[in-house]
Amino acid sequence: MGIIERLQQCLDSQSLIVGEALRAHPACIYLIPKAIIRPGSTEELAAAMTVCHELGQTVVTRGGGSGLVGGTVCEGEDILLSLERMNRIESIDVLGRTATVQAGVPLQALQDAAAAKALFFPLDLGARGSATLGGNLATNAGGNRVIRYGMTRDMVLGLEVVLSDGRIISAMNSVIKNNSGYDLKHLFVGSEGTLGIITRAVMRLQPAPLSENTALVAVSSFDRLVRLLGQADQHLGGAMSAFEVMWQSYYEAICQGGKRHRYPIRDSYPFYVLIESLGANQEADNQRFAAALEALFEQGLIEDAVLTKSRREAEALWAIRDDVEALMSLFPYFVFDVSVPLAEMESYVAEVEAGVKAAWPEDQCCIVFGHLGDGNLHFVIRAAGEFEQVREQVNEIVYEPLRSRKGVISAEHGIGLEKRPYLNISRSQDEIELMKLIKRSFDPKGILNPGKIFEA
Ligand SMILES: Cc1cc2nc3c(=O)[nH]c(=O)nc-3n(C[C@H](O)[C@H](O)[C@H](O)COP(=O)(O)OP(=O)(O)OC[C@H]3O[C@@H](n4cnc5c(N)ncnc54)[C@H](O)[C@@H]3O)c2cc1C
Repeated sequence: MGIIERLQQCLDSQSLIVGEALRAHPACIYLIPKAIIRPGSTEELAAAMTVCHELGQTVVTRGGGSGLVGGTVCEGEDILLSLERMNRIESIDVLGRTATVQAGVPLQALQDAAAAKALFFPLDLGARGSATLGGNLATNAGGNRVIRYGMTRDMVLGLEVVLSDGRIISAMNSVIKNNSGYDLKHLFVGSEGTLGIITRAVMRLQPAPLSENTALVAVSSFDRLVRLLGQADQHLGGAMSAFEVMWQSYYEAICQGGKRHRYPIRDSYPFYVLIESLGANQEADNQRFAAALEALFEQGLIEDAVLTKSRREAEALWAIRDDVEALMSLFPYFVFDVSVPLAEMESYVAEVEAGVKAAWPEDQCCIVFGHLGDGNLHFVIRAAGEFEQVREQVNEIVYEPLRSRKGVISAEHGIGLEKRPYLNISRSQDEIELMKLIKRSFDPKGILNPGKIFEA
């Protein structure tokens, strides 16, 4: 009996899509997998994985499909596993400040459910409507508030995972302190679907912030920018929740001469920073925020500033930072997400910009922005020529200078297929061998998301 017949024995037609019906599924835009498994429960998934393991069937797990490194790419021989039906927030414990969720819950749904109970789930990123908690965990997503709340790894207390052979590991811990042996959940966080399938999780919630202050400031040099980061954090006494830097190139490309967004501050400064602080007392926090900005002016760290007075005004500033759509006009372009130590950042950016200009003197652009508070930079680079032909050249320009600077080729998005050839820039051979050993222990037949992160 073949794999499809075996799966049909344990899954009903809601949980297994095969044949022509595959074409209607949103995940099947380019390549059509052999089948799609859409389990309604952990047990159903475990039964399906037992069969896949027995027959050596490869499985690619998909959450919201918002990943940016080809982590959910399927070949025709793979089965796609979609967590779309496991999308229930099972409970919110107000006292313990935790949420128990199924892996297919969209990030925004958890943010909203937490807010309805006067709690706060601080993970936030542009794809909040489609990205799922399972995907956030599998990629260890970062986003805008890492500086204050950490990455997804810092927000998870417990996990339930189905292993490649169908065993269910239920480690739904809900307490903060648990040093009873190895903390296995951290192996699955950031493993990009290669070690196990995350089915449920206990996420940590925070008290809802009662005050919010946001400002856009202009800065005249990189040296001042770095000092501003330290000083703003100090003046705001640990309440700073975002420090998002936009290089002038980004600010201009997004505002498009005022056509797409009104310039809150004129466009002649080299750097713009969106600073956000979250607190517990609006009146006192307003005063503290205004006083902090004044002190930063006096210290000569900022040239100009816009302080928002309402949520609407704050949203208008965030819209500039989040408007990736505006960059579509640059198409074709390449997007990068790297980390580099602050002390190396200025020279690194200069080297990449110079590399792009030298390679395509006539037709290119290099746009820079990032979550500077955690050393994370994004580049959007347009280079003349046929996309596939220039891709490798652009990759070399961005990744190679990281080697000598102890930089990282993937700050937030993971490795997937796209960054696989460059993993050795950020990881030693010994580290990669150890990763492969872990992979073999969890997935000896190599059926989970094959070829992602590294070749088996
Ligand atoms: C506009 C936009 C803005 C973004 N901004 C950010 C940002 O600021 N920070 C950031 O970190 N990322 C960002 N991303 C990238 C993306 O949203 C994140 O990587 C997100 O965590 C992926 O979640 P997903 O559910 O869409 O996962 P998918 O894209 O479906 O999958 C991503 C990877 O996780 C694996 N996976 C998914 N679900 C599971 C599961 N249940 N168990 C095991 N493995 C699983 C997949 O196999 C794949 O390898 C952005 C993307 C877009 C489009």
